[in-house]
Formats: sequence, C-alpha cells, structure tokens
Amino acid sequence: MSTSQPSHIALFPSAGMGHLMPFLRLAAMLAKQDSIVTVITAQPTVSLAESEHISSFLRHNPKINHLELQLAPSFRQADSPPVDPFFLQMHLINQSINLLPPLLSSSSPPFSAIFVDFLVVAKVAPIAKTLDLPIYILSTTSVAFDSLTAYLPMLASNPAEFNKTSAEIKIPGLPPMAMSSLPPIFLDSSHLFTSTIITNSQALSEAKGILMNTFEWFQASTLVALNKDRVTKSLPPILPIGPLEPYHDPHDDNGDQYRSWLENQPVESVVYISFGNRTAMSRDQMHELEKGLEKTEWRFFWVLKTSTVDKDDKEDAEHFLNEAFLEKTKNKGLVIKGWVEQQEILGHPAIGGFLSHCRWNSVMEAALRGVPMLAWPQHGDQRVNAQVMEEAGLGLWERNWDWGPNGIVKGEEIEKKIVELMTDEKLRGRAKKVREEARKAVGRGGSSDKVIREVVKSLIIPF
Ligand code: UDP
Ligand code: UDP
Repeated sequence: MSTSQPSHIALFPSAGMGHLMPFLRLAAMLAKQDSIVTVITAQPTVSLAESEHISSFLRHNPKINHLELQLAPSFRQADSPPVDPFFLQMHLINQSINLLPPLLSSSSPPFSAIFVDFLVVAKVAPIAKTLDLPIYILSTTSVAFDSLTAYLPMLASNPAEFNKTSAEIKIPGLPPMAMSSLPPIFLDSSHLFTSTIITNSQALSEAKGILMNTFEWFQASTLVALNKDRVTKSLPPILPIGPLEPYHDPHDDNGDQYRSWLENQPVESVVYISFGNRTAMSRDQMHELEKGLEKTEWRFFWVLKTSTVDKDDKEDAEHFLNEAFLEKTKNKGLVIKGWVEQQEILGHPAIGGFLSHCRWNSVMEAALRGVPMLAWPQHGDQRVNAQVMEEAGLGLWERNWDWGPNGIVKGEEIEKKIVELMTDEKLRGRAKKVREEARKAVGRGGSSDKVIREVVKSLIIPF
C-alpha cells in the first residue's frame, strides 16, 4: 500500500480585497481537500476590510496557518505626487520580498508549492527556484485581460503601432481588442503600475500554471486559443478553477439592517449597485445616479463608496446624497455605506440585477448566482472584463458610457439601462444558464473541480 503526505501550499496575495478574496477562497477550498495551507499576508494592510477579513477568516478556519510579511516603511516625501495607495502597497510588497525566503524555508512540514498573485511573480520566482518550490499564479482578472498583460511587453516595445491613435490591438489567437478598452496608463511604460505589470509579465513562464477564477464554459474560445494553440508562448497553461466559492457562512450582525430590508422586497425586484472595494465615484456622477434611481420604478440597493481606502471613509451617506433623493426613494431604495456581504446579497431572491464596475470577483459572483449584470466599467481591467461578461451572455454593457474621471453618464441614460436590465427576460434566462454551467463546473467531477484536484495531486509527495 502506498502512502503519501499531504501537500503544504503557501498562498501569497497582493494588495486590496479584490486580490485577497480569491486567495482566501482558494485557501479554504484547498484545506477542505486535505492540503495543509499557509496564507502569507503583508502587514500592515492598506484597508480595514483586508485586516478584518484576514482575522475573521483565520478564526473560522483554525486549521489554516498564517505568516506575516512585515513591509518596509514607505519613504515617500511629503511633496511627492499622490500615488494610489493600492499601487503603493503593491510596490512595498515587492520591495519587501527579501523577507520571504526565511518565512518559506523555516516552515514545517516544508512547503510543496507557492501560489502567488501575478503582481509579485517576478520577485518570488527566483526565490521559489532556489527552494525548489513549484510556483503557480492565482489570477484575479479575466483570461482576456491576462492575455493582454502577457502581451504588454511586446506592445510597449513597438510604439509606432501601440499609441493613442491606434484603433485596436491584435494579440495572436484572440479577436482584436479595442484600444478604448485598455487602461490608458498602459501607454505609459514608466508608470509604476505599468512597469510592474511588464516586469511580472516577463516572468510568467517561470510559473507552472495560471490558476484562473473562471470556468471553461464561460471563456471557452479564449481558453482554447491560449491552451491548445499556444499563441502566446510566454503564457504557462491557463487552469480554470472557478468560480471560487465563499469560504464560510458570513453572517455578521452588521448586516441585519439590510438583511431584513431585503426580506421585505419582492422576488427579482431590486437592482444591486456596487463598484467594489476601492472605486469612489465623483460627487457629480453620484448625483446623476441619484436622478436615475429616483426616476426608475425599480427598487435599488446601493453600496456607496466615497473614498479609495475605507479608513478615510468617515462621513455617513446623508453627507453625500441629496436630502430630497433620500426622502423620495425611502420606500423603494436602500443606501449602505460600508462593507456589505456581496456574495450573500447576490444570492438573495429579491435581487434581479447587478449594476457593477465589472472587476472579476464581482463577475464570477454574479455568474455563480445567475444575476444579470449591467456593466459600468470605471478603470483598469474592467472594460475588457465587461466584454467577456457580455459575450458569455451574463449581462449588458453600454460601450458609450465614459469611464474614469473623464465624463459623466446622465441620470436618464442610467434609468433607461436599468429598465432594460430588469425587464429583459431573455437575458434573465441566459444568466440562469450561466449559473447552471458555473455550478456544474465547481461541482464534484466538474471541469474546474477536476483541474484543481489535478494540480494538488501533482504536488503530493509519495513515500
Ligand atoms: N465586496 C464585498 N462587499 C463590499 C465590497 C466588496 O463583499 O462592500 C467583495 C466583492 O464581493 C468581491 C471583492 O470584495 O469579492 C471585490 O472584488 P472585485 O474584483 O469585484 O472588485 P475590486 O474591489 O477589486 O474593485
Ligand atoms: N492584474 C492583472 N492580472 C492579475 C491581477 C491583476 O493584470 O492577475 C491587474 C489588472 O490591471 C487590474 C490591476 O491588476 O486592473 C489591479 O488590480 P486592482 O484590484 O489592484 O486594481 P483595479 O483594477 O481595481 O484598478
């Protein structure tokens, strides 16, 4: 009879809830499948949401180990230009990676592999090599956007074709991508974020695979192009293992107000509105959204965010919104400022649509619950993700809406699109089909379940 020892996997996310959440979900899944799991997080975190989720996760999952990477202090001068705090954190994590080898080599039992965020792979790969540890990336975006980042070094080296005047870009094996869907900072290779992406893209081939929070059915043709035709050679195998599922019953007392509100709403009557954990809307845009919500007959649940980092979010919702709006909509709408349990809300029968910025966790959470989406990308990977989401049949995307701080979408347009989202029965049917396929993929023996089990099996050392 052959025996084996379980694999011991280190998971190392980068900054922000959008990055932490999929790592914690994967950690819980691996622990359930009998791997020994250690989560390594940077200390201090940027947001309160991150530190609170790490503590609560460890409390609910006592078998999972935790190591902290103490970040070097940031020596930014008082007069240096402002940098997005999440980008700065990503930079600090990379600067502090020299502290990782002692954490990895002192572990008992020894690690069998390390799963890292794309944004640190270049710095972690040589360390993993020295320790003879296989390295996998856990991606926090769509396959389409990952292909774009993988191809970015090639694009950036050809400014004659990759510039503001280009209409589209061509990544071998994929349909052309509109230039207007790319984050504008990708044209500036000296930008901290762009240069970090380029450095990490050049190290992609060091990874044994890229674990994707997606499922085969959702992005079938892109996965075939990248995995079977191997059109972008620097990419290791793309391994769809999602949608990653929530890790524990998240019931917290803070949510009692909205839970009881939701209980009193008719089935599929509420539009849930959220732009993730770090995207604040301008005041002018907020007021246009108010106008749209006031005009529509649909009910709404709006998670209002007014600053990039939650620690800075001090005033309550009334401070930002018009009194008249709050008064007129009090019987059909709820505005919450602060953290809500999004995946639980999306699973509530009252929710009939999701107005979202389309960062990838939100897309996969909507897919797993079959909630039709209205995409309103704000920055980064969100336009590329919106297109993927639309093509998979999960929702609508109004391409003419501006993103970032550039323009304002008028209340009437928002209202029109909300009506379309909530009344399109064909879309509702397609979203339910997406849910069915998503559940199949993560169910026992489903396409995603098989992929992650194979990866873990390959890490087990027989003795
Ligand atoms: N999230 C949540 N409650 C909030 C804000 C965010 O549960 O109030 C969760 C959301 O469900 C998702 C993650 O935080 O799992 C945000 O990731 P996403 O990729 O959607 O957007 P980002 O915050 O990175 O822009
Ligand atoms: N990103 C990427 N591949 C990954 C993870 C992240 O290319 O596997 C990039 C992508 O540009 C994403 C960005 O990292 O937009 C930063 O993610 P974050 O949540 O920090 O920022 P956001 O997209 O919300 O601006």
